Amino acid sequence: MYLDDYGRKWFKGNLHTHTTVSDGSRSPDEVAATYRAAGFDFLAFTDHWNPSKTSMQDGLLLLPGCEYDVGTSVVDGIYHIISIGAQHPEKIIRSSSLTPQNILDAIHEASGYAILAHPSWSLNQPAEILKLHGVDASEVFNSVSNVPWNGCRADSSVILDTVAALGMPLPMVASDDSHFYTGEECTNFIWLQADELNFDAIMDALKKGRFYASQGPKMAVEWDGSTMKVHCSPAKYVVFYTNMVYSAKRVAKGPGITQAEYQPGAQETFLRAEVIDEQGRKAWASPVILNL
Ligand SMILES: [Zn+2]
Ligand SMILES: [Zn+2]
Repeated sequence: MYLDDYGRKWFKGNLHTHTTVSDGSRSPDEVAATYRAAGFDFLAFTDHWNPSKTSMQDGLLLLPGCEYDVGTSVVDGIYHIISIGAQHPEKIIRSSSLTPQNILDAIHEASGYAILAHPSWSLNQPAEILKLHGVDASEVFNSVSNVPWNGCRADSSVILDTVAALGMPLPMVASDDSHFYTGEECTNFIWLQADELNFDAIMDALKKGRFYASQGPKMAVEWDGSTMKVHCSPAKYVVFYTNMVYSAKRVAKGPGITQAEYQPGAQETFLRAEVIDEQGRKAWASPVILNL
């Protein structure tokens, strides 16, 4: 947890973790201890098709979580969807006729929050994502979708920028999807602004989008309808992304910059900011839709 310049609390959490309950290599207690030692405030065990329960363990809030999946071929679409905070087990029957929309609907019926997992790893197509209703957020970065555990498809920002440019600006989370605990754990997470560390406060902040994704850098974004201002921990670059493939003023350059701003033009339809520090670690703020 850290306090920002206004005295507000930001809690650190990972919303995608596997344990020995499915195909993870560490037990739930071992995983909780690993994240607690790394300064995490909340965590969700999202074992495949095994919903977990909420609890508070030595100051670490565990949120209910589960990872559901459908599809085995890119032609038909492969979707992995994370459920967070469901009030009861989602009513999802594993079958060949199951669709990603069925999963999203069941998560919401259980009052859960639905996150599209690793769209780049899944080779999700923007046009197919646009057909879905009720995707509450998407992973912009997934630790384990990277070498040495996978090919280099950890970063989904190109897919999400395309989806945002086509009218669906999805809030962005970064997650570990930890399975092996050989270096992918505790590296990608969200900072979430809430007054208290409990189930209701964290779920409320999540559903209201009061978070940003990070690998370490901290950032705060102000948007007044014409200018986006970013305040951040010392950065090498602050990059502003929009639907425009080129913008001369897109990148603010360091070293050590702690603020940057961008005024989008009339042709720009969405805007988001990304911070990159000297070690190459990133933080991502979610896109906002522009009505200029
Ligand atoms: Zn997955
Ligand atoms: Zn997973």
